[in-house]
Amino acid sequence: MKDDIYNNLKLDLPELKEGVLLKDYTTFKIGGLAKYFFIAHSKEILIKVIKLAKTNKIPIFVLGGGSNLLISDKGFKGLVIKLKVKSYKVNKNKIVVDAGVGLSKLVNLVLENSLTGMDWAAGIPGSTGGAIYGNAQAFGEKISDNLMEVEYLDVKSLKIKKVSKKQCKFTLKNSIFKKNKNLIVLSATFDLKKGNINEIRKNVLEHINYRKKNHPINFPSAGSVFVNTETKITNKKLLAKFPELKYFNSKGVIPSGYLIEKVGLSGKQIGGAKFSDVHANFIVNTGNAKAQDVLKLIKLAKKKVKKIFNINLETEIQIL
Ligand SMILES: Cc1cc2nc3c(=O)[nH]c(=O)nc-3n(C[C@H](O)[C@H](O)[C@H](O)COP(=O)(O)OP(=O)(O)OC[C@H]3O[C@@H](n4cnc5c(N)ncnc54)[C@H](O)[C@@H]3O)c2cc1C
Repeated sequence: MKDDIYNNLKLDLPELKEGVLLKDYTTFKIGGLAKYFFIAHSKEILIKVIKLAKTNKIPIFVLGGGSNLLISDKGFKGLVIKLKVKSYKVNKNKIVVDAGVGLSKLVNLVLENSLTGMDWAAGIPGSTGGAIYGNAQAFGEKISDNLMEVEYLDVKSLKIKKVSKKQCKFTLKNSIFKKNKNLIVLSATFDLKKGNINEIRKNVLEHINYRKKNHPINFPSAGSVFVNTETKITNKKLLAKFPELKYFNSKGVIPSGYLIEKVGLSGKQIGGAKFSDVHANFIVNTGNAKAQDVLKLIKLAKKKVKKIFNINLETEIQIL
């Protein structure tokens, strides 16, 4: 039976839905029901829906492309807002894109305008907003590299504000938007450089082909499970047993996939979830994985990596 709050909200928001299966909105294909679900096509409607949620004391969760998310099998007892603001503007070297613009669209826009600096993102699913939230990166480049400023909504004041790249406090897979859930990315301005379109196209294709070969793209997943660890291992026994560590030490970053492989978890399956044999830092859904299966694998990897390498793996996938 539909509840009173839903009926009241529906008067103001005719497109509001109830009991929406969230697995259909994530690349992992995992997740239970959202009590309420709304697709926001404009900034104005986003503010309106958040205002109503606040008045009715309904917790909110902002969803982008759902490509870095593990949603509980129990779903979310609040309002999930899928951000679908999708405008963009190109002015010479500058591109302004709304948070809901897909990274693939952004890569295409950059390519069409013979601009460089975004080809590394080719093949990464998800939205620009989600990429800024987690400072998406690949092949040594990051979404923050060519960013000028970000426009965001402050959920507390319901005011739209702007911050410079510096104020976003980007670090490895992190930003102020990840630290403060009251900040919703609305749009971003990038300052890019002119380049040779054929070279840019070549880079884009190379990155897509690399992903096809080295990532388990034939199974649902949420990308890398753990953030790579910025550290150096000095333990002599470990350095003797795992000689590759010397190379990683020289880079200052130990890849999580390497650690998971070396603790023997590559290919390990619990229920329907499995550490990929193709890339050990991916957990794939082999068919009917539950969030619980994924969480058990995460716990196991953290425990083993801590025991053998004394490294605390940080989970990259956002858990709801
Ligand atoms: C096959 C595959 C390959 C991938 N490869 C990479 C890779 O190479 N590099 C990489 O960095 N990532 C990679 N990812 C992970 C993912 O695609 C990126 O992190 C992406 O940027 C997440 O964006 P999203 O819109 O899907 O975010 P979602 O999954 O929808 O959300 C992730 C988090 O961001 C928050 N969020 C989303 N939008 C906003 C917003 N507008 N404002 C505030 N918060 C927001 C959500 O609340 C949530 O907490 C990969 C994923 C897959 C499935």
